[in-house]
Amino acid sequence: MRSARVWAGLLGVEKTVVERVDFDEDEGVIVASVRPGRGQRRRCGVCRRRSPGYDRGEGRRRWRALDLGTVRAFVEADAPRVCCPVHGVVVAAVPWARHGAGHTYGFDQTVAWLATVCSKSAVTELMRIAWRSVGAVVARVWADTAGRVDLLTGLRRIGIDEISYRKGHKYLLVVVDHDTGRLVWAGKGADQASLTDFFTRLGPARCAQITHISSDSARWMSEVIATHCPQAVRCADPYHVVTWATDALDEQRRIAWNAARGAARGNSRNRSPSGQTKALKDARWALWKNPDNLTDRQREQLAWIAKTNPALHRAWALKEGLRTVFAIARRSPTEAVEALDRWISWARRCRLPQFVKLAQRVVRHRDAIIASIEHSLSNALVESMNTKIRLIVRMAFGFHSAQAIIALAMLSLGGHRPTLPR
Ligand SMILES: [Zn+2]
Repeated sequence: MRSARVWAGLLGVEKTVVERVDFDEDEGVIVASVRPGRGQRRRCGVCRRRSPGYDRGEGRRRWRALDLGTVRAFVEADAPRVCCPVHGVVVAAVPWARHGAGHTYGFDQTVAWLATVCSKSAVTELMRIAWRSVGAVVARVWADTAGRVDLLTGLRRIGIDEISYRKGHKYLLVVVDHDTGRLVWAGKGADQASLTDFFTRLGPARCAQITHISSDSARWMSEVIATHCPQAVRCADPYHVVTWATDALDEQRRIAWNAARGAARGNSRNRSPSGQTKALKDARWALWKNPDNLTDRQREQLAWIAKTNPALHRAWALKEGLRTVFAIARRSPTEAVEALDRWISWARRCRLPQFVKLAQRVVRHRDAIIASIEHSLSNALVESMNTKIRLIVRMAFGFHSAQAIIALAMLSLGGHRPTLPR
């Protein structure tokens, strides 16, 4: 009797009777035969309502439990079926695992916790589990958490963004709370339907409480936002505005690179890239990085560009100028607005077609950009959130469903991280 309780504790199962424990020599695993405790039998696996027994189902089955030391452990039990008045004939609920899961609660919980704090290989090697199964576990754990908590209360200032999660235009739509820095919602598909789904869940009363919405400038978003939150001030997401400039800079770099390659080809029959083209390729990171983070070598590359390619250097300075507008905004919104207008007139006269075009784009969105400056939507916060979400989505590549990717992002950044069992 005593040892049965010790085993239940070791296996991390509750409301469960451990009948016997065997060491399976062939497979080198520990198998504990268990049955549901008092009051836990004959319950519907879906709703846990008491239901009449139906049949013995497919006989005995096993659930993976947490390892005992270095030995893998399983609990084994009958899996009879019951006939629920609502859900029909279903496998009966068990107190040690979620319905339909092949792992115990403790195992699920540990895997979910690990997935939010360490690398993919650490989780899969430590728990001896495939990454796809990790996806199924986090989806289950998140579904339980989402059923318990309401992430959509008290939202005032939100940011809406789309993130690619697989090649071939597969996108997630994500919504962050600018005031708490939490991810509050993620849905499959970045389109009017998914954004409408978010606002529908939020409901009219809470939609009316939203004061600011930051997003990129996609027209489809504007239409849905205007329908559901007409009162909200539209802000341009600083992160996206800086990205526009980075893209324009990259275009200028390609123009410079192609020109250098053309010159190299013209000068000799040698088709290998000249020193100039190689240097331009190497300098890519120097151009993209923030000046504060440049290495000495990258500083030299920039100086070299200033000397040999004034147009590209001008493009770099314009990108940095736009980034600086948002950096100033944290100190003084008024100065930032002045800086934005100076930047616009500079870009208009810069004779770099893609930056002249960018200037026009910035003018079109000037109100939204100024709104984000005046309401001090911190670019640093938005950017770090963006980076975190993208890292998680990248890590979740290999999960089979978008739901699992969403679950990992929500568990990691939604403010309700899983805890370890006990
Ligand atoms: Zn039921």
